[in-house]
Amino acid sequence: MRNCQLSIVVPCYNEEQAVGAFHRRLVDVLEPMGESFEVCYVDDGSDDLTGSQLTHLASTDERVRYTAFSRNFGKEAAMLAGLRMCRGDSVVLMDADLQHPPELVPRMLEMHRSGYDQVIARRDREGEGLLRSFLSRSYYRTMGHFMDVSVVDGEGDFRLLSRRAVDSVLSLPESNRFSKGIFSWIGFDTVSFTYHNAERVAGRSKWGGRRLLNYGIDGLISFNNRPLRLAIYAGLLLALAAMGYALWIIAGVARNGVGVPGYTSLLTAVVALGGIQLVTLGIVGEYVGRIYCETKNRPHYLVRESSDHPGPPAPDPPIRAGGGASTTSGSTRSRTLRQFIVFAMIGVVNTAVYLAVYATLNNWIPYLASHVIGYCVSIVGSFLLNSFITLRIRPTWRSFLRYPLSSLVNLVLSGALLYIGVSHLGIGKNIAALAAGILATPFSFLVARWAITSGAAASLPPEPEQVTAGTRSGRTGD
Ligand code: UDP
Ligand code: MG
Repeated sequence: MRNCQLSIVVPCYNEEQAVGAFHRRLVDVLEPMGESFEVCYVDDGSDDLTGSQLTHLASTDERVRYTAFSRNFGKEAAMLAGLRMCRGDSVVLMDADLQHPPELVPRMLEMHRSGYDQVIARRDREGEGLLRSFLSRSYYRTMGHFMDVSVVDGEGDFRLLSRRAVDSVLSLPESNRFSKGIFSWIGFDTVSFTYHNAERVAGRSKWGGRRLLNYGIDGLISFNNRPLRLAIYAGLLLALAAMGYALWIIAGVARNGVGVPGYTSLLTAVVALGGIQLVTLGIVGEYVGRIYCETKNRPHYLVRESSDHPGPPAPDPPIRAGGGASTTSGSTRSRTLRQFIVFAMIGVVNTAVYLAVYATLNNWIPYLASHVIGYCVSIVGSFLLNSFITLRIRPTWRSFLRYPLSSLVNLVLSGALLYIGVSHLGIGKNIAALAAGILATPFSFLVARWAITSGAAASLPPEPEQVTAGTRSGRTGD
């Protein structure tokens, strides 16, 4: 039953530092308006104290309702849950990090009253990093060409929807939800206004490069089949070009006789065609994958508890060890595997860095000195990359001093394995060295991880788990 005029829907994922401040500021704005309102929080499987904060808010403020997911399902699923649970005549979607200023809500409501079903608060890009701003703008420009619905730069999820707009959004059953496209697709009278971009009040954005890339592909593919058509055009164009080239060669042969075979052009053509075929297959695969997901018809999310149906008391939140602890042993295993793969990739990069430094310095200083400098540079690089990227932990001097141990372990262990391989097993020296290097890597990974994480308190926020099935995450306004 609908019993309030305004609902605020707030997806939250690891927002323990922001959600309290957000709620206070929101209530300070909404109370003087004299409207009846509710605030619907969705805890998207947070592994910090967000859940207990929401439970506390719901027990102290009867206008607060919440739903908590069984794990992180992504912002799109959280928004969907919020829209499903809210009961207001109009609904405002907002982020919990105060990047969507609550002070704009009265203005949105006013515009809605003058007849608009969607009121979009569009943020400017002031104060944003140059690279991010450039990438976002380019993304929207490209999207403008490729998508069947219009998505506008700066227009994100911060918007007011009338009840009939909410019902229309909820009537779309697809699993792969791309809200920006859905909001545009439902239509209705829409108006937007620009507001000044605000910084996150606390915590970190949950959007790393990989997530953004996935989101970009989602957007491109969810709302049209133009990439498929593009693949057809590219194929046709290449076939025509190949035919033209063949005619040109035949004419050359007719004029000058058979010359030296053109290996280079042949190889180039084969590689180029192979690449295009793979890309095309990838595009087709993306669509097939989506169809597969849709046919499974899985729910968009699973609810652990809600304010309407409170569950048993939540267990104490896990203490985050270095690199971010996860809540299940399965996810710990997959995190360790991910860390190991990244560690190995960084190892390859560092070998290249070492070789580049060594080869360059060799021109000016003795080769042994170049070796030492190259080695030191690669160790520092490896330490920083593994701290920030592999283990997402702020480096300390202590961990830096411990770190060379992993190289030592690698040296000793690979030496021992090499010796066993060559002297006892009779394996060839080169193969034995390669195998010894590979076998020693997991151990140097463990030592490196210990060196970086042992006793570390200042872990960076963990990257959220990638959602592999059902709804993918969405991002806010950029
Ligand atoms: N969020 C969520 N689930 C996720 C990631 C984010 O519910 O998997 C929420 C997050 O708590 C915040 C909003 O979505 O309220 C926007 O997230 P964020 O600030 O990280 O995105 P950005 O502003 O950087 O685009
Ligand atoms: Mg944000």
